[in-house]
Formats: sequence, structure tokens, C-alpha cells
Amino acid sequence: MQKAAHQATIQTFLQTCRNHRLKITPQRVAIFKKLTGLGTHPTADEVYQMVKKDFSNISLDTVNRTLLTFAEIGVVDVVETFGGAKRFDPDVSNHHHFYCIQCGEIIDFKDPSYDDLSDPENLQHQFQIISKRVILKGFCNACLNHKSN
Ligand SMILES: [Zn+2]
Ligand SMILES: [Zn+2]
Repeated sequence: MQKAAHQATIQTFLQTCRNHRLKITPQRVAIFKKLTGLGTHPTADEVYQMVKKDFSNISLDTVNRTLLTFAEIGVVDVVETFGGAKRFDPDVSNHHHFYCIQCGEIIDFKDPSYDDLSDPENLQHQFQIISKRVILKGFCNACLNHKSN
């Protein structure tokens, strides 16, 4: 199991915005930088809390809509939700998730054998499958250590 780290760089981000004729504003750049700087899978509210330190006029709604726009143009991913608020993933490369059911942390990992899992035959006939992600659920190390104390 390898740790994943494949975020769009700021250059890729700016180029993708230009390709989609999305205006590059200081707020958009800040939102992108905060999100990719985290290395986690934050909610729009978590990104908002950080961005509003620099842009006191920005609203949660703006941050939320910006993140959804980023997802549309493919510079971030929306994570499958496990209930609760929508979460965003700065890593748009092929990777898998470990989800801690205690603290809600989503940890990225890469694993070629998961990438190579074959698709169920009945689904292959029904759908066009373009990507796959394995989600493992359990307790992260921090929560395990906490439990045993
Ligand atoms: Zn945990
Ligand atoms: Zn991820």
C-alpha cells in the first residue's frame, strides 16, 4: 500500500481554468491552494474557515459553489459521501480510500492490485465503467490507540 500524492499543480489548475474559460480570481486561487495544501478530504465549510482568514467577505455558499465548479472541470474530486457533508478530494489521480468510521478521516492510498480488479461481468454489459475506487472501512491508527487506552 503506497501513499497517494497526485494533486493538480497550480500550473495545471490555471491552465484548466483557462481551457474552461473560468475566470481566475484571487479567491478561486486561494480556495484551490487551501484545498490542495491540506492533503485531506475537507468539507466546503472547512475550506471556507481557512479561506475567510484572507478573504473576510467570502461566503460559504461561494466556496461551496467554487468547489463544485472545480469538480466539474476536473481539478478536484467529490468524494463518495458516507452521510454528512459533501467532501472534496484534491487528488484526482486513480487512488483508493480508507475511511475511518470513528473519526471520519479519509486516507488516500494506491494499490495496483485494486486498480486491476476486474469488473463484474453483468455490470460490464449494462454500464460503461470509466473508473473504480476501493473503499476500505475501519479504524485508523489514532482511533485504535485511543480505544485501547
Ligand atoms: Zn480514526
Ligand atoms: Zn482521496
